Amino acid sequence: MSLIPAHKEVTLQGTAVSPGLAFGPAHIISRGLQAPETYDIPESSVESEVARFRSALETTKKQITGLQQHIAGITDDSESQIFDAHIMLLDDRSMISKVENEIKGRLLNAEFCFFAVIQNYSEAMRRLNDAYLSERAADIDDIAQRVLHNFSHASSLELQETRPEHHHIVIAHDLAPSDTATMDPDQSVGFVTEIGSINSHTAILARSLGIPAIVGLPDLIIEIQEASDLILNGYTGELIINPTVDTQRRYRAIAEEKAATEEELNKLRDEQTTTLDGRPLILSANAEFKHEFPHILESGAEGIGLFRTEFFLLGDGEIPTEEAQYQLYAEAAKITKPHRAIIRTLDAGGDKLPLEPLAEPEPNPFLGWRGIRVSLSRVDMFKEQLRAILRASVHGKVGVMFPLVSAISELEEAIAIFKECMNELDQKGIAYDPNIELGVMIEVPSAAIMAHEIAQEVDFLSIGTNDLIQYTVAVDRVNPHVSGLYKPSNPAVIRLIKMTIDASNNNDSWTSICGEMASDLRLIPLLVGLGVDKLSVGAHQLPRIKKAICSLKYSECQELAEAALKLKRGDDILEISLKLAKASYPDLLD
Ligand code: PEP
Ligand code: MG
Repeated sequence: MSLIPAHKEVTLQGTAVSPGLAFGPAHIISRGLQAPETYDIPESSVESEVARFRSALETTKKQITGLQQHIAGITDDSESQIFDAHIMLLDDRSMISKVENEIKGRLLNAEFCFFAVIQNYSEAMRRLNDAYLSERAADIDDIAQRVLHNFSHASSLELQETRPEHHHIVIAHDLAPSDTATMDPDQSVGFVTEIGSINSHTAILARSLGIPAIVGLPDLIIEIQEASDLILNGYTGELIINPTVDTQRRYRAIAEEKAATEEELNKLRDEQTTTLDGRPLILSANAEFKHEFPHILESGAEGIGLFRTEFFLLGDGEIPTEEAQYQLYAEAAKITKPHRAIIRTLDAGGDKLPLEPLAEPEPNPFLGWRGIRVSLSRVDMFKEQLRAILRASVHGKVGVMFPLVSAISELEEAIAIFKECMNELDQKGIAYDPNIELGVMIEVPSAAIMAHEIAQEVDFLSIGTNDLIQYTVAVDRVNPHVSGLYKPSNPAVIRLIKMTIDASNNNDSWTSICGEMASDLRLIPLLVGLGVDKLSVGAHQLPRIKKAICSLKYSECQELAEAALKLKRGDDILEISLKLAKASYPDLLD
């Protein structure tokens, strides 16, 4: 693991988690350092930039020496020796010459070049297999931040033209779902992380927002230089660093081809989603943010099948008022009318934001305070959300569903609170749709096994396969070390899905699948054959899922499902489903 030389084309292979191609310079989000602004400098300013860099180092050295003397005066000598290491870094000849070469080579401002070099140092240190030394990375960050503050701006700023807000590909060790949620796709055109997994909410959000992404390139931050040219291939997981002109040209051509295919698929927008032999399915979209609504409409989705409200509720540090919630849910109802907008109540915890900071970190967050458990222990907050959803129901066809129900008693408690909210609105004379549909997410085996009893209480079941797989196979959905075990085609998962669909059918309700499995083109024949009524997928994936369903024969899918339910290995199930997928829509699978 060493720094990839500028101008040398190198291809790294990671895991593709969000399709699409992205082109642009790398922007490294360092774990300890705040990136300074970046701007081009004319060649004539190289000398003055180098001088600014040297002067920032000198000023910092003086400050550190002053601090050292101060500390030496009040404690014994050994304490003040800590600062010797800081001064050594500021005097480090190799660091200094690297920064100066960067300034000359890239014609970028000095503080940016200093940042680009030093963040590699700090990350390299952080990864040493030595607890003491890796902790010293924080010292490097600390001293570097000081240097960054000490750059004088007076000399050459007037000469420089600040770079326009340019687009870039984010490179990070890891990103939280909230980081992805706040990305502006016009600026952050893609992201690559060193760790992560395809089923994390970070990856799910990237797919929803249409941001191409790759995870699982472990040493990237110390191998790559800030601002290196990149091509991110979110279809294959390849990251091309410093692509040659030929490679650029080749990928631009691929991007054009992909855009033409998307345009073709978009022509299906107004078509019904029906198999070749006439079985209709409802195809709706998953949503997390209001800004996705226009795209959901354009995608031809029949409504919103899963509105993950936690990003809106927890995104700003303070839960929005009932009124603000009502406004958003009403808008979802209006734009999806005459189709349904199914609003899921808060699903905090797990790998998403917690509702409130906990005194102790949870030992097993996915088995802890998440989903409906949180809402049932914060009844006032829960009621605000339920009232807002009820009030919004007059604007369209609204459904409400509860996440992570694991026992009938939880469902009964939630329904009782829901009814209380209806009574409160009745008393105040506030209108709502008395026939509002109520559903439960089936995402833990205990719920799937009890699906028959659950279906008697509600109007629909929505299978959250992301969690159902993790809890059935006991494999953390975001842990890359066990990702090989995370198989949607695991026979136990398939049988639980079948049990759930049967339970709905026997109780006059309907079943949707809203986990990521619903957009797995390899498994669409199997899901259709199992008899699901509805699939809910990211709006960006929706057109190709529609095309896939419209290319299938329901009778063949049923035969396939029957055969799959007899198999005992996930790979065998995948193989027969993929075979039918390839025979029915080969063009969608390359
Ligand atoms: C699921 O678990 O499949 C699901 C849709 O919910 P989430 O991904 O938000 O946990
Ligand atoms: Mg879930």
